[in-house]
Amino acid sequence: MKVINEIDITGKRVFIRCDFNVPMDENGNITDDNRIRAALPTIQYAIDNKAKVILASHLGRPKGKRNPKYSLKPVAKRLATILGKPVLFIEDFENPEDKAKLEALKDGDVALLENLRFWEGEEKNSKEFALKLKELFDVYVNDAFGVCHRKHASVYALAEISEIAAIGFLLKKELEYFDKIFTIEEKPFVAVIGGAKISGKLDCLLNLLNRADKIIIGGAQAFTFLRALGYKTGNSLVEEELIDEAKRVMDEAGRKGVKLYLPVDFVCSTSPEDESGYVIKPYQEIPKGMMGLDIGPASIELFREVLSDAKVVVWNGPMGVFEVKAFAHGTNRIAQIIGSLNALKVVGGGDTADAVERAGESDNMSYISTGGGASLKLLEGKTLPAVEVLEKKQ
Ligand code: AMP
Repeated sequence: MKVINEIDITGKRVFIRCDFNVPMDENGNITDDNRIRAALPTIQYAIDNKAKVILASHLGRPKGKRNPKYSLKPVAKRLATILGKPVLFIEDFENPEDKAKLEALKDGDVALLENLRFWEGEEKNSKEFALKLKELFDVYVNDAFGVCHRKHASVYALAEISEIAAIGFLLKKELEYFDKIFTIEEKPFVAVIGGAKISGKLDCLLNLLNRADKIIIGGAQAFTFLRALGYKTGNSLVEEELIDEAKRVMDEAGRKGVKLYLPVDFVCSTSPEDESGYVIKPYQEIPKGMMGLDIGPASIELFREVLSDAKVVVWNGPMGVFEVKAFAHGTNRIAQIIGSLNALKVVGGGDTADAVERAGESDNMSYISTGGGASLKLLEGKTLPAVEVLEKKQ
């Protein structure tokens, strides 16, 4: 795939599909602008090379309708502050007045289109919608790693019909890091997989069995594994229908010589809301009526030992209900332990990136992905449709 610096963009209208899907509070204030900052190298490069820069993104799930709650206006404002230059906000790129504003862009100017998901065609991968967008630019650039696992118009149909198409620096970096963890020869490779559900991580676990030397399992999915081993888990989150799949993962791990580690103790309480009444119990003793909400101190120590010789670490999914203070300790400690390692440390996006940030360990990781779903797909060993379509074009 061509990268933006390998094509001529000077004086051209350059459409850059970014991922500005940032978290906002109820007053529309951006609470974390990491995704905006991650897109800056590509945007700044386009400005410096005198392109007419047209940015586009989605935000949240407005389901094909205009909804002020999901407007990208606050992103335009923040971007203008960061770039130190005006960012023209285009509410409706189909409206003749707005179209004229886009046509009047000068070299080095920047515009941001309103949330693409306000149009039904975006999520439907509509070619008609893509054709409308295509009228706006000469060069197409995809830098939106976070949506590359989706077949949406702005990353799929539009890429398919654009004569000149490239990727941005962020997308390039994301793909390079995930490629690196699957090709680097150093060992041991330790995968740390947590989160709420086994269902979303099963393919990831099965694929990692072909690559990892050790797999640490934390979060609620540990309970499905413990049930597969015949233990009672109280009220902990268990996916009954996947107990057999958990068995299969353990069997395959045994056959392939991959070492699998489960937590050996838990911080248990009646519910995530009950922060004061918790007890710490070995996995054999999860009290009836209680649920495991975090890994306990013995598990932290075990995982510290397991990780101590790691040369490559990939981490996806928190160890417990890290959003609640009483159950965040395990995730924080794992973030610190991974952060302190002298290894290649790659963190999947979404919740895990958030947890690493909360633990103050972001600067100690080799790479923190900006895409939760997309990074999971790569860990599953799958290709990303939006990347595939660009690869086919070359
Ligand atoms: P995922 O999106 O699958 O990575 O899951 C992230 C979510 O898993 C977070 O919101 C955590 O609160 C949740 N989680 C992690 N551990 C547990 C647990 N022991 N019980 C319930 N939820 C959990």
